[in-house]
Formats: sequence, structure tokens, C-alpha cells
Amino acid sequence: MGGVKLIHAAMPHSLFSDAVDIFEQLIAFDTTSRDSNLALIEWVESYLTRHGIGFVRLPNEAGNKANLYATIGPNIEGGVILSGHSDVVPVDGQDWHSDPFQLRYSDGKFYGRGTCDMKGFIALALAAVPLFKQGQRPVHLAISYDEEIGCRGAPAMIAEIADKIPAPRLAIIGEPSMMGLIKGHKGIAVHEVLVTGHEAHSSLTHLGLSANMVAVELMHDLAELSRNLWDKADVTSAFVPPHSTLTIGEIKGGTATNILAGHCRFAFDLRCPPGADPEAILAPFMEKSRALDAEMAAAFPGTGINVHKISATPPLSPQAGSDAEAFVRTLTGDNGPAGAVAYAAEAGLFQRAGFPSLICGPGSIEQAHQPNEYITADQMERGAAFMERLAEALR
Ligand SMILES: [Zn+2]
Repeated sequence: MGGVKLIHAAMPHSLFSDAVDIFEQLIAFDTTSRDSNLALIEWVESYLTRHGIGFVRLPNEAGNKANLYATIGPNIEGGVILSGHSDVVPVDGQDWHSDPFQLRYSDGKFYGRGTCDMKGFIALALAAVPLFKQGQRPVHLAISYDEEIGCRGAPAMIAEIADKIPAPRLAIIGEPSMMGLIKGHKGIAVHEVLVTGHEAHSSLTHLGLSANMVAVELMHDLAELSRNLWDKADVTSAFVPPHSTLTIGEIKGGTATNILAGHCRFAFDLRCPPGADPEAILAPFMEKSRALDAEMAAAFPGTGINVHKISATPPLSPQAGSDAEAFVRTLTGDNGPAGAVAYAAEAGLFQRAGFPSLICGPGSIEQAHQPNEYITADQMERGAAFMERLAEALR
């Protein structure tokens, strides 16, 4: 905290110094995905109001979280969407050396939960609002919730933006990319499987049905499926690894070794590069689940298998030589090869809605979700320069 004041005192007034002020505010809101983000949204609303900018708040059904979007500059086509998510991953069980919800500056780094993923980008975009106001073309700010738990917040906002806003030129999703250009990301489908068995003493296997034993059979199939995905690797792919991946991340079942398990739950995620169809990949598994489910219900009424999709985020398909890419390169000055990443982001959703979309933001994904998450002052400065050049380009 003292460190933040110190770096401030040493800085002339600039977009960077304004961004650090805002950054401090944004980090102080604990917007862990399981909790409300409304305090942050209200703060952003009052900031925009102070600058004479109107906004639209889109609450979730429960009313405890909201997306926010705002148009800065004339409401005409040819604008640029700047997109960021307001939520952060939990700090539970992580070894933090300072309060994760208090921005701390030390040795050229800003520490705090969400510094690199991705409140730094949002702070920079907000700090540039006075510059964007002078544009001939608009900037549309799009701030979502629940990105970290399967991009659940953004779809409603993206649908409304597609419906109500005059066609933008492109969308820039400010996930940490060290200000490099990311043209592709994998899609993710997360499924939960609930197996209901019939409890009995474990010695009397003919009188019950163990949910665990059925789950193991299903998981065996998924393990085999996962191994087979390796054989479908596309060596020319920019993705690492260059194929779809499947892993079972959670398993919980049974209550005691001498009871046939009544319940077992497991969840798996399937990550597919553009072109691979998650539904086709899972079709044999779904078929097997349905067959087993029918068999179980026939043997013991009330038992069975329930598979449901928790989330599905579409991939971002790289577009060769696009106008969006050329435009972002003039802002970053980066002529290196564009990357493709294995983490999913909201870019695929924007692309699916018809907007040319790219990922470009400050900070490194290696620091995301980590204890003592940080972003370097150098990356924030590069982000500030990016916003200044964007404002210039829209003038
Ligand atoms: Zn993120």
C-alpha cells in the first residue's frame, strides 16, 4: 500500500498514474466468482457517471452479480470492444505474503488477486475513458462476471451488444498475453456425472448396486477416450498440446468401505481446439451412460446415471490476415507470430456472435491464479501506451 503511494509520488500525472489509482480500487473489491461483484460494478458506474458516460447494467437472475457495458464516444459502427471479466479465482489455501485484496507495489511489481487476471486491463481501459471520449469512433467497454467458472456471465451481455450496438470493427479481450497477440484458444466443455446406486452391506453385492463401481466403469471409458485423443494430434496446430484433452478433475463417492456406495459424483473437462466437435467426441460415452442407466433402473428402481453439462465455452478460431489483427498490431507494434492458447476465454463467445476477436492484454498467464499474483509495472506501462495509441487511432 505504502509502495503504491510511493510509485505515485514518483510519477508525473499520466494515463498510467490514473490507471494505478483505479487499479487500487478494483483490487480492493473481493470479486471471487462465488461472491457478488456488485460493489465493483457500482464503483465503475459512478466512475463512468463522473465522466458523463451512460452504461447498461445486466444483472444475473439472482440479482447478486451483473455485467456492465458502456459506449464511450459516438454510438456508431466501427468501434472497438474492450472486454474484461470482473471476477477472480479464490485465494483459499494459497500462501499469500500480503493481503490479496490490497494492491501492493514492490520492486517493479503490483501484487494482488486479479492484478494480471485481469483487473489491470480494466483499470487501464477505465483510465483511458477521457481520451476515448474524444474519438470519432466509439470504444465499447464490456465487463462480465463468472468468467472463471465457465464464462457464464458474458453470453447474455454479448447477445445484447450484438443486438443493440452498431457493428463494431473488432473485440479485444484483455486476458494476460504480455501484450502479444493471441488469435486462438481452445473451447471447454465441463460435464458432471451423478451416479445413484442402491446401498447394502458390502458383503451382499447381490442385494445392492454400488454407485462407485458403475462410476469406475464410466471413468475407465473416459480414460481410454482421453488416451485416444492423443492419436488425433494435428502436428501443424499452434495449440499445446496439439489435440483435444480430457481429464476427470473431481471424484467423490461412497461413505464407508463396508457399504455399497449410494452415490458417486465426478466431473470432467474436455478442451477442444477449433474444428474438433466435443459432442461427437463424447457421443460414445453418452450412449454407454444411457445404456447403463437403463440397465441399472431395471435392476433397482431409483438408481441410474445423470450426465449434465455444467458449461460450454466455444473456441476462438484463428483467422489468417484479418483486419482486426492488422489493427491490433499497429497498436502493439508487435510483428511476431500470433499465439494460440490452451486456456479458454470469452473471445470465442465474441467471435461466435460475429465480432472479429483477439486476445491482447498486459501481464503473463503464468502469474494468473497463483498465490502472490502480480503484474509488472512495465506491463502496465505497455498497456497504458496501448490505450493511448488506441485513442489516437479512433480520433
Ligand atoms: Zn481471466
